[in-house]
Amino acid sequence: MTADGKGQETHAFRTEVARLLDLVVNALYSKKEIFLRELISNASDACDRLRYAALTEPALIAEDAELAIRLRPDKAARTLTVIDNGIGMSREELIEHLGTIAGSGTAAFMAQLSGDKAKDVSLIGQFGVGFYAAFMVAREVAVTSRRAGTDATWTWRSDGKGAFAIEPGVAGPRGTAITLHLKDGEDEHLEPQRLEHIVRTYSDHIGLPILLEASAGAPERLNSAGALWARDKASIDAAQYREFYHHVAHAADEPWLTLHNRNEGTVEYTNLLFVPTRRPFDLFVPERHHRVKLYVKRVFITDDCQDLMPAWLRFVAGVVDCADLPLNVSREMLQANPVVAKIRQGLTKRVLDELARKAKDDADGYAAFWEAFGAVLKEGLYEDHARRDALLGLARFRSTDSDKPVALEDYVARMKPGQDAIFTIAGEDPRALAASPHLEAFSAKGVEVLLLTDPIDEFWVPAVGAFKDKRFVSVTRGEIDLDAIAPQPDAAPKADAADPKVKSLIAVFKLALGDKVKDVRASARLTESPVCLVADANDLDLHVERMLRQHQRVDTTSKRILEVNPGHVLIGALAQRVHRGDAVDAVEEMAHILLDQALILEGETPADGAAFARRLSRALTRGLTA
Ligand code: ADP
Repeated sequence: MTADGKGQETHAFRTEVARLLDLVVNALYSKKEIFLRELISNASDACDRLRYAALTEPALIAEDAELAIRLRPDKAARTLTVIDNGIGMSREELIEHLGTIAGSGTAAFMAQLSGDKAKDVSLIGQFGVGFYAAFMVAREVAVTSRRAGTDATWTWRSDGKGAFAIEPGVAGPRGTAITLHLKDGEDEHLEPQRLEHIVRTYSDHIGLPILLEASAGAPERLNSAGALWARDKASIDAAQYREFYHHVAHAADEPWLTLHNRNEGTVEYTNLLFVPTRRPFDLFVPERHHRVKLYVKRVFITDDCQDLMPAWLRFVAGVVDCADLPLNVSREMLQANPVVAKIRQGLTKRVLDELARKAKDDADGYAAFWEAFGAVLKEGLYEDHARRDALLGLARFRSTDSDKPVALEDYVARMKPGQDAIFTIAGEDPRALAASPHLEAFSAKGVEVLLLTDPIDEFWVPAVGAFKDKRFVSVTRGEIDLDAIAPQPDAAPKADAADPKVKSLIAVFKLALGDKVKDVRASARLTESPVCLVADANDLDLHVERMLRQHQRVDTTSKRILEVNPGHVLIGALAQRVHRGDAVDAVEEMAHILLDQALILEGETPADGAAFARRLSRALTRGLTA
């Protein structure tokens, strides 16, 4: 920071802002006119915030209560000024808000950056980068602002090249005036028709008047104003809904679902909610804030009423306007408020009903929705007992038997005669899961297994336990008994696990492996692989334990059970040797190799890599020189 003695100070932009501005000034081919949408959106938010602050402190708004946004083009000076009489910014706020990346819209943009300048530049048009979009058309921007309730006016000024200056401004009205000194070639943004067209395209839904002050005459109103959600549905087209969604959600995709309803039960409210097509960048931040704004009779109250929507619906964005809350409701009063609780119930039901309808009418669209947001909805299975059945109905799964997402209803309908459980296997990579040896006996009997690939599955599955009296059973845990299910017609005959030779081999393995394993036993799971590792019925699933270890929630590894496949040639040959009392050393060595191999299949590493390599080389040498 430097000061010049006349009250002007120069500050360098934070690195991320400088990087962003570098992209913005290069955004030659994107839709530059969106700069106006961004400035109007900020101005509208500033007015909303003033209106809310004035509920408890009416003096803030008293001097000028007609909130509006004004566009003032000046052809002679080649400037366009966007003026609002909203909350304004203090000196500190100018520095903080316009010198760092605070805004959610901008943060969303930054999160999408690829590092490839050409690609990133073309993203700007889609996203809008908030205030900084002004530098697409302006060589210099001056922001003059007076915070409501204060006397001091400050001016922020920058050419967008690394630094901004801040100095005391001429005493002015409450609110913010942003003056753009246009670049050469940008004069179209001074033309009244052009401005009107841009406002109608992108900002028609804004609830305040947007006034054009192009000549000495009366200001001309450009938008229809009136809160969009309060208008008659029939008068709103898809493009208007979309622009409104972009404004409330700071999003750039198409809304997949639009829910616009007037509710007149015990509580009267209007909702305009959107389900996005794409995941917002901050969907999995720990705070899990939802994105629905609360209004009372058109007055913005808060975007932070966490009781308004369950956290597991936090991908839903929009507004709720309630007539049955007092206008001077404080944020504290909103906690544990019965009216809010009723609205939450109503909204939750509405969203779930609509999802169920889509699942039925538009399976492909629903599958894409589930891919994006299913992991979030599943949090509700764990958290919201009352919605469990509805959510189980909506849930979709990857499966060994289908390329398309599978509903539990469908799984149960095609269960094999004799099958009494829903079988699952958990892990991150669906392809690795589908190839797991644990599935062999299931595929041999044509039994479908669901692949659980979301970390949240580890939590809700044990909590929920069953779907319509069919238990969820992990194929990697406990003993599996598929005897009640008839084998496929072409299946190989089952090997005899009670064969005394196999029993002796198992005894030799147990001795050799000692406390490296919990147990060694004959497997009912395997048909092709020689061995696999399973968890004991009461132990953590292998995958869960690995996940918890990665998050440092546990630091031990439970002992596992090594299962051997009596039907495998290798196991058969080893059993023969033990029976003949032949080369027992080599059999013991094989026990270690097979255990390490089973670990590798689980995505783990052998405890002693060097020993594994040594044993394997010896075994291969023996095999080749025998
Ligand atoms: P976003 O709008 O996504 O928050 P911006 O970069 O557009 O991000 O704006 C950053 C912040 O600057 C805003 O969050 C707001 O606090 C402040 N701001 C921008 N324009 C105005 C305005 N006209 N009046 C008051 N505050 C404003």
